[in-house]
Amino acid sequence: MSTYVYLQCLDHEPPLSADGESGQHLTDLPQIRADLADRARITASIRDGWDAGDHFRNNTARFLASHEKCRIGIRDEYGVEHPTTEGAEDHDRLVSALAALGRVRAIVARSANYGHDDRGLFVVFVGDLRAALDGAPQ
Ligand SMILES: [Zn+2]
Repeated sequence: MSTYVYLQCLDHEPPLSADGESGQHLTDLPQIRADLADRARITASIRDGWDAGDHFRNNTARFLASHEKCRIGIRDEYGVEHPTTEGAEDHDRLVSALAALGRVRAIVARSANYGHDDRGLFVVFVGDLRAALDGAPQ
C-alpha cells in the first residue's frame, strides 16, 4: 500500500503543498528528514544543476529551492502531518500500527458475514488477519 508524502510550505495560508511527492511510503520519511536537515546544501546543489538521481529527492530539492526561507512541513496524501526532524521513529511506528489496526478492524467487520459454522470461511478470515498483521510493525 502506498502513502504518498508531500512537503508543504507553512508560510502560505493555507499551507501550500508541493506538486511533486517527496516519497511513496512512510518508510521514505527518514530520507526526507535527512534532506530537510541538509536543506542549505541541497538547495545550493539543485541550483548548480545537481541531480539526486532519485525522483522523490529531486522533488524535495526543487521544493526547498522554491521556498528557501519558508517553514516546511510534511503531510501525506491522507492529510496526516508528520514530524520534520529525525528521532521521530516512535511517531512512524504509531502511524504504521494504527494503519494495521484499521486493516484488522475492517477484516473483523467483514468476518461477521462469514458465518459461524463454515470452517472454510474461517480459514479465509484467519488468512486475511495474518496478512494484515504482516503489514504491522515488528
Ligand atoms: Zn513558501
